[in-house]
Amino acid sequence: MSDTLPAAAGLYVHVPFCFSRCDYCGFYSTIPAAGSLEQYLLRLQHESEAARACHPGPVKTVFIGGGNPTTLGLVGIKKMFSLLEPWLAGSRPEEITLETNPETLTAEIVDYLAGIEGVRLSMGVQRLKDTELALLGRRARLDSVHRALDMACSRLNNVSVDLILGVPGCPSLAEDLAALLQRFEIQHVSAYFLTVEDDSPLQRRILNGELPDPSETGPEELFAVCETLKNHGFEHYEISNYARPGRRCRHNLNYWLAGDYVGLGPSAVSCHTDCRTTNPADLARWLAAAPPHVEKLSPVDRRNEFVMLSLRLVADGLDLVALESRFGQQPAEFFAGLTLQIAAGNLEKHGAGRVRLTDRGLAVADSVIAGLFIDSPEKCR
Ligand code: SF4
Repeated sequence: MSDTLPAAAGLYVHVPFCFSRCDYCGFYSTIPAAGSLEQYLLRLQHESEAARACHPGPVKTVFIGGGNPTTLGLVGIKKMFSLLEPWLAGSRPEEITLETNPETLTAEIVDYLAGIEGVRLSMGVQRLKDTELALLGRRARLDSVHRALDMACSRLNNVSVDLILGVPGCPSLAEDLAALLQRFEIQHVSAYFLTVEDDSPLQRRILNGELPDPSETGPEELFAVCETLKNHGFEHYEISNYARPGRRCRHNLNYWLAGDYVGLGPSAVSCHTDCRTTNPADLARWLAAAPPHVEKLSPVDRRNEFVMLSLRLVADGLDLVALESRFGQQPAEFFAGLTLQIAAGNLEKHGAGRVRLTDRGLAVADSVIAGLFIDSPEKCR
């Protein structure tokens, strides 16, 4: 399958349950109480039916994320897939991703997924040493990571792992990653720098001096991981994402190319041209059908987001023709900014009418991208 953009909107479903909270977590999740999985699935069915009245679909990609979707167990996952079926309208899905954590993945869930066309499993592995998993407050240890990858990679042909970089006081995981890639047929890797939530247990340990401040971490681990993945046949296609050929995450590509999407579940976001809605990040309010927060995006917001997301696509970069056809002629100061960054070695021309970050630009990506934003509606149609 090629790596081009899916033609229709994607569907995201947020499963807001985890059996415990990791020490750094910033996602919306809660520990399930008796009956809450059933209540969640019932409300999801109603929300899904109501959303389909506005977005009849079919969608090409589905992403079931969390939280930890495998807290639903096999019965809950089967119910989830059957209630999402109308979104596919009998057509062949390009990709259906299910997130999981190693300790809640079972052989029965893997068997069930193996019978679903286009399925992709995304596993939250995060670190590759028991001491580091413990430091982050993860439930899994390396033996359950290996057990889960053994099951998943022997039955499924599209398995992704999530990793966290820049964990305070920990050495680079690049060497352990190389060993993991030798052992398992992994198709995709996401590697994000640790962000520590306010008031989280990890932040308290950093503030009282027990652990170094991760915001002072340099890019060395990123470069080592990038090198390891390239040496194992992965393409670095987005700042934090790497794929074997044909295995880019198609659902996320739709976000990064500023496509429309529908979100279901607590805290899920939907976006349709200039309107973004966000469901309440609160299970009780969402169960009670509290309305989403509605945000109208200005042309400037959408243009700047398009530039930011496109430049994060480090292999393909920003398509200047697409930028002008969507947002009108760009101001002279934008082209002056491009020229400056190309001269500094942070951006490079790529193919017909594209620019992308260089390896050097990767280390300063946020400031390079922010320098290409515009702030005035007159400069944007
Ligand atoms: S598994 Fe993910 S969502 Fe759940 S607590 Fe840990 S980081 Fe948060």
